[in-house]
Amino acid sequence: MKRAIFPGSFDPITLGHSDIIKRGVKLFDEVVIAIGINGDKKYMFSLEERKQFIEATFANHPKVKVVTYQGLTVDFCREINAKFILRGLRNPADFEFEKAIAHTNRKLSKIETVFLLTSAKTSFISSSIVRDVIRNNGNYSILVPESVVIKQD
Ligand code: ADP
Repeated sequence: MKRAIFPGSFDPITLGHSDIIKRGVKLFDEVVIAIGINGDKKYMFSLEERKQFIEATFANHPKVKVVTYQGLTVDFCREINAKFILRGLRNPADFEFEKAIAHTNRKLSKIETVFLLTSAKTSFISSSIVRDVIRNNGNYSILVPESVVIKQD
């Protein structure tokens, strides 16, 4: 079985993430969305909320699983027998950052990172911009899946 993990903070999940996930399921038998737990980071949404948003968004997608993990991504890949890491690329800054991580992960393991270019319609979206719009009472519904909006109203 070709299993990929899509790791991230998903604080919250955006239409950019869901675009990558929907395209990822066409390439793999299973896409495990893995929410990383980082004790040093301050999040807007709790781990449980972030997980629920994603579960609700992909409730009708049997090939999509949602889990949380701690520690190195490559260790978690080994644990669940995922041979691929899926990542999205929005711009050159993403590329430079992701390149270093992917090279490091290849040094640490045999796991391949597969990059998908974001679709033009969602390439400007980031979770941090969504959080900013939410904080300032803007209309963030155009940036996120419905499950995130319903929770807020
Ligand atoms: P991280 O904390 O690892 O940056 P994120 O939740 O921000 O986690 O992102 C997880 C993955 O989703 C990364 O590969 C990132 O490049 C990708 N991503 C983020 N925003 C978008 C977007 N608008 N379109 C496509 N991919 C995106």
